[in-house]
Amino acid sequence: MTGFYGHVIDGEETGSLDGRRMPSVDPWTREPWAEVALGGADDAARAVAAARRAFDEGPWPRMGFAERGRLLHRLADLVEEHRAELSLADTRDMGKPVAQSGHDVLRAAANLRFFADHARLSTGQALPMDSGHHAYTRYEPAGVAAAIAPWNFPLMLESWKIAPALAWGNTVVLKPAEDTPISATLLARLALEAGLPPGVLNVVHGYGPDSAGQALTEDPRVDRVTFTGESVTGRAITRAAAANLTPVSLELGGKGANLVFADADLDNAVHWSAEAIFRNAGQVCLAGSRLYVERAVYGEFLDRFVKKAESLRTGDPKDPATELGPLASESHFAKVRSYVENAPGTMLTGGLGDGWSVRPTVLADVDPSARHWREEIFGPVVVVQPFDTEAEAVTAANATRYGLNAMLFTENVNRAHRVSAALRAGTVWLNCFFIRDLRAPFGGVGDSGIGREGGDFSREFFTEPKAVVMQITDA
Ligand code: NAD
Repeated sequence: MTGFYGHVIDGEETGSLDGRRMPSVDPWTREPWAEVALGGADDAARAVAAARRAFDEGPWPRMGFAERGRLLHRLADLVEEHRAELSLADTRDMGKPVAQSGHDVLRAAANLRFFADHARLSTGQALPMDSGHHAYTRYEPAGVAAAIAPWNFPLMLESWKIAPALAWGNTVVLKPAEDTPISATLLARLALEAGLPPGVLNVVHGYGPDSAGQALTEDPRVDRVTFTGESVTGRAITRAAAANLTPVSLELGGKGANLVFADADLDNAVHWSAEAIFRNAGQVCLAGSRLYVERAVYGEFLDRFVKKAESLRTGDPKDPATELGPLASESHFAKVRSYVENAPGTMLTGGLGDGWSVRPTVLADVDPSARHWREEIFGPVVVVQPFDTEAEAVTAANATRYGLNAMLFTENVNRAHRVSAALRAGTVWLNCFFIRDLRAPFGGVGDSGIGREGGDFSREFFTEPKAVVMQITDA
């Protein structure tokens, strides 16, 4: 065990009011490696009170964009300086290979920098009116934002919410996932070191239902709830927030389709298709977990794809050469195992690994009615099927209640744009995967969520736009 990590409330690191603690378990050793404050509704309430005070009375929302931006850049500097510690925290908490969690830390710093600059450079509108009046718009901070995060990209996804909220002058209560609490406390410590005033970024640890998470969504002093996690949880959060008419932003699950046409650059398609389902052991909302390959290249593609899957290095996530670590927790491993043991169809490669690990698994000839085609497995498990026509491929891709993202591989530019337009998804990746421009909208349709994050889309969510109308000629 390497120590105790508390809530961070009003600039102080503290235990829970009732003194409860929870272990954080390293899924590689399957042993607790740290202890964390286990918060309840009363801890969430005092974190909201601190954020409320910092918003209503403190300097943060009243500061100029340049000064807030300077502090957020300072925080980004500290995040980069503490890259090794932050990355190891996520790796030990959830088994992500350290090469990937190190990359996540850099992305977290980039998120802070991007939104600091985006807010500073954003402009409202000036609206001259024929009536002798003039209107202009202001983007004012919404107030207290509750940010509820999942465990699969802990620090990175937390920064994605915190950065725009803070840059626009809101104060924040962050509840990290119970399986990955440590990097959030480390981030809040760095925020204080960077000079963010007390109460601006608060962290409360604990579980979701009937606990700290739920309490945040029910608190009338909260002005925004931004949530990333499962679709079922998203529904519960929407119901809770509706009681106070609190706006919610939901980034939920996915069941991404990946279409490989016969004219694709197959080396490129194999590379990205493997990334899409095996990166982070498939624990990615964007995972390309349904793979459709045009029949003319089905055999050749699968030969290469299976070889690629078998070449991936599994093992200790602390080893920089490891590409797939264990799954994040015992309960998550049990869930994924239920899809791998006695899997339908033909297992071309894969199966259970050591401990809580699942090897890269490719399932062919799976009956269309199998739950493997419908449900988010959230592990390194892909189902694959041939198709004959473009129309058939698009219909299959869209046959899901999710709609976060889709991918397609083709060298035919007309088809590329035609199919991109026909796919029902928030993001379509063409001949690539996972590439993100922070100005672009990110989010999903259907069970994949409500709202978009990124650039101006985050601004819309974290601000209350105001119109000011003035008379500029004599009445
Ligand atoms: P989860 O829904 O179980 O938990 C997410 C967070 O919500 C945790 O912090 C949890 O404590 C909290 N929570 C749970 N119930 C709650 C409640 N009733 N009220 C308030 N808070 C509650 O999700 P998870 O298992 O941590 O994450 C995996 C899921 O997240 C997958 O479905 C994945 O696709 C999704 N995800 C989506 C995106 C995206 O951008 N769309 C990104 C990453 C992960």
